[in-house]
Amino acid sequence: MGGLATVTLGAAYADRVEPVAAQVHDIFDRLERELSTYRSDSTVSLLAQKAGVAPIAVSDDAYRVLSLAHHFGELSEGAFDVTVAPLVKLWGFGRTPAPAGLPSEETIREQLRLVDYRRLVLGDRTAFLPLKGMAVDLGGIAKGYAVDRAFDFCRNAGIGDFLIDLSGNIRVSGRPQWGEDWQIGVRDPFDRSRILGKVALPSGMALATSGSYERFGEIAGQRYSHIINPRTGCPVTGTAGVTILCGDAATADGLSTSFFVVGLKGAGRLLQKAPPADVLIVPDKYPIEIWLTPGFAKAFIAIPELAKAVRILTPTSP
Ligand code: ADP
Ligand code: MG
Repeated sequence: MGGLATVTLGAAYADRVEPVAAQVHDIFDRLERELSTYRSDSTVSLLAQKAGVAPIAVSDDAYRVLSLAHHFGELSEGAFDVTVAPLVKLWGFGRTPAPAGLPSEETIREQLRLVDYRRLVLGDRTAFLPLKGMAVDLGGIAKGYAVDRAFDFCRNAGIGDFLIDLSGNIRVSGRPQWGEDWQIGVRDPFDRSRILGKVALPSGMALATSGSYERFGEIAGQRYSHIINPRTGCPVTGTAGVTILCGDAATADGLSTSFFVVGLKGAGRLLQKAPPADVLIVPDKYPIEIWLTPGFAKAFIAIPELAKAVRILTPTSP
């Protein structure tokens, strides 16, 4: 699924690191083979090949991820759209090279006709895209889903204290050692060399971040976010980073992408509809502001230089 995966076990499980890491690796590998856009034999690729032709049979995992993705589409009123693939390709954020110039309004409009999560048909372990040219992109949710599967595996293997991190999609259990919490730094979206602050993660909780500077595309010297606003067909502007703290990694992942699209302006409305989750949003503006829901503020300690940048985010503010 791209990116770095790490598994950290609590001090009491030090002798089990190697076999556990190998098994978690297998879980990620298996899911990647099914859910990746970049493998021609994945479920995702097959679904696109059969778009407009016939439904395909899908595995339990693929079915669950597609259903979840559809669910986040509803929840976010289309800000999260799993059928965004043609636009991702158009803007050159997949593995297709970035275009030399901006796509024309007409090509954007053309591709937008292929983007609508409501048209994804999920049947009895089958999936279907009704128009030729439609495709799904699970990049906004699959990593979180994979982390949850690895989390379940570790718990079932009797490991009480661990941290799983799949390129910024994190879930923890227990604690690193007696009397300590798992502490995660939230990177500054404007400056990769520093963090905004640290989050203490209670057992079972997940954290996901969207909008790392590592994932920008560049067209004609301009940087563009790799998250697309499905309303406009263009890369999202106005949001620099979003971090979600909640009870499972798939929800954290789906919500991080959703809040990234709606931005600070749409955050209140989405907070009202979303499952219980805490949110950190950094708008793309200077000087930096860090907006946090009250629950996030409780778990978060900003670095001293940024203590004054913190603002409280509620369903009715800003
Ligand atoms: P990251 O991939 O950096 O962890 P995200 O979890 O936010 O960040 O996922 C971004 C990915 O989601 C993009 O690379 C793309 O594959 C996909 N994507 C882009 N725009 C949308 C969207 N509006 N809805 C759903 N998925 C999207
Ligand atoms: Mg996401």
